[in-house]
Amino acid sequence: MSGDQKGERIDMPMSLPDDQYDVVVVGLGAMGSAALCHLARRGARVLGLELFALGHQRGSSHGETRAIRKGYFEHPSYVPLVLAAYEGWHALERDTGQAVLRKTGVLEIGKPGSAIVAGSARASREHGLEHELLDTRMIRKRFPQFTLPEGYEAVWQPDGGYLRPELANRLHVEQARRAGADIRENAKVLSIQPATAGVRISTEHGFVMAGSVVLAAGAWIGELVPALRNRLTLTRQVACWFEPRKLESVADGQLPVFIIDGEEDIAYGFPNVGSGFKCASHNDSGSWATADEAAQDAGPADEARMRAFLEAYLPDAAGPLRAMSTCIYTRTPDEDFVLDLHPDDPRIVVASPCSGHGFKFASVFGEILADLAAEQATRHDISRFGIGRDELR
Ligand SMILES: Cc1cc2nc3c(=O)[nH]c(=O)nc-3n(C[C@H](O)[C@H](O)[C@H](O)COP(=O)(O)OP(=O)(O)OC[C@H]3O[C@@H](n4cnc5c(N)ncnc54)[C@H](O)[C@@H]3O)c2cc1C
Repeated sequence: MSGDQKGERIDMPMSLPDDQYDVVVVGLGAMGSAALCHLARRGARVLGLELFALGHQRGSSHGETRAIRKGYFEHPSYVPLVLAAYEGWHALERDTGQAVLRKTGVLEIGKPGSAIVAGSARASREHGLEHELLDTRMIRKRFPQFTLPEGYEAVWQPDGGYLRPELANRLHVEQARRAGADIRENAKVLSIQPATAGVRISTEHGFVMAGSVVLAAGAWIGELVPALRNRLTLTRQVACWFEPRKLESVADGQLPVFIIDGEEDIAYGFPNVGSGFKCASHNDSGSWATADEAAQDAGPADEARMRAFLEAYLPDAAGPLRAMSTCIYTRTPDEDFVLDLHPDDPRIVVASPCSGHGFKFASVFGEILADLAAEQATRHDISRFGIGRDELR
């Protein structure tokens, strides 16, 4: 919704029939492509509008891998959603014959008293999920590639693993197209205006009308929902790929997806899926005022930070640098998502699920966004993600 027209309904002549949709989805990254897929499959007349070319690397959904885990350290109430997300990913795999989710297990390692280890153990316990608690000795025995100080502990989740984000987004788009969705690339949405006849979505190339609209604009969401602009922080996150010193230590099958809540940093990594060993810090290295300022500007300081971490905890991985990639986290103050109807008009659905942990939910959030756009309600519990919660005021 553009700032000056916020909450105001306008009457206007009807647009051409060709430009009328049941639902328009703004942004075709992880969430938008999944929502478009679900809506199209339900028989809705849908249009997806994407600012750049599909599969671009300027948002939050590129970089080869995304972790998925069940015992959710952030809060146990995420677990039912993540279980539904697993079902969604498996359904996408069945429908397309493509492997999107690879189960490697997830090892969450933490310094003594780590909130990540405690949170994961609690969520796993409360939801009866398969998991093991490991002390330093047990971690060293099972995963000798990690060099850990005394007192470190871990949760082992055998069901964890990684997703292939570029493939997942492409499959959602392909499925949506197959089910009849229209898609326009390089189509920047400029404003959203509620009108009597529907919601008017203005682009650089004219406008379209829709019964409802899903705003899944990732790091750009504040431009379309000004109320969120000052509550979201766009942080700079750099992923590094290294040529491992010992290939076998980081090979798929030897190394699980892991996160280490260490003394100096919280960082995570993936087994080598072909492009080298990938790791990144979950903490940021700066922030941007707008998503347009973000650039592929990773440099020596980013490499040095990750290299120091690996030398401390996983030295076998720290060979020559192969590549780096900059990505944006859209963080809420409480790190919970935004997934709700717009308070000024329920025909506008707002989706900002990031804070560095949203990707794994795209399969179920696509379903939820379709529910909200079509029925203004969903069977899933999304009460944690309200746009009106105190932390977002
Ligand atoms: C480095 C990194 C690592 C991460 N690791 C994990 C992980 O391991 N596990 C996990 O679950 N999650 C992880 N996440 C988080 C996850 O990737 C995000 O939650 C997810 O990608 C967000 O998807 P999105 O659809 O909201 O945004 P995006 O995928 O960025 O899509 C938003 C889209 O909207 C488009 N757009 C913007 N403005 C407009 C406009 N005005 N008109 C039209 N289109 C517009 C953009 O071009 C973009 O394509 C990570 C994120 C990053 C950056």
